[in-house]
Amino acid sequence: MIKFLIINFQFVEWQCDDDEPAAKVSHKSEDDFKRYYDKLKASLGGSKSTPDEAVQTVQPLSDDKGQLLKEVRILAKNVEDYKRRGWDYYFHLGCGLAKLKRMYFKMCSVCESQKPDMFQILSCKRCAKVSNGNTFFKDVQIDYDNGHINFLISVAGLVSRFRKLMETPYNSGDLKKYMPYLASQLEKDKMMWI
Ligand SMILES: [Zn+2]
Repeated sequence: MIKFLIINFQFVEWQCDDDEPAAKVSHKSEDDFKRYYDKLKASLGGSKSTPDEAVQTVQPLSDDKGQLLKEVRILAKNVEDYKRRGWDYYFHLGCGLAKLKRMYFKMCSVCESQKPDMFQILSCKRCAKVSNGNTFFKDVQIDYDNGHINFLISVAGLVSRFRKLMETPYNSGDLKKYMPYLASQLEKDKMMWI
């Protein structure tokens, strides 16, 4: 399933782009998103896909780059080997990838004055410009392409801000498809999602 998704992966690197993503899409896509989002809202508070304890009891990620690299590879392998699905597994893997990628990132002068979290730094175009993102992708060596790695980081960033996403069913395909709209919509409705 994951392999299939990667092949069909058309993720726009929206988080590294100054252009307004919504401007690039047709009205049809917006309608599709609205339908998806209405369903997502309706599913909120239904059956929890993953209990909070599952996230809270995971091993803390190492602060050492070499060790974290090993941990991230194990996390990715576990997700594949055990066919793990759901918010908690992807959230943990995405956080590991984000923490690792952050180690390759320098902060731009704008971010330096704003105390951003690691997800904000990773999505800043100016930070990306002065950083070693390509070295991160070369070093990480897991079975996902760069787009999918960035997608997992985006998912982890969303979940870290909007925890109630974990109370909705996990659907990787929909998330990839609607990621360009989802972050801003969740921000608008954040009282519902945090
Ligand atoms: Zn920055």
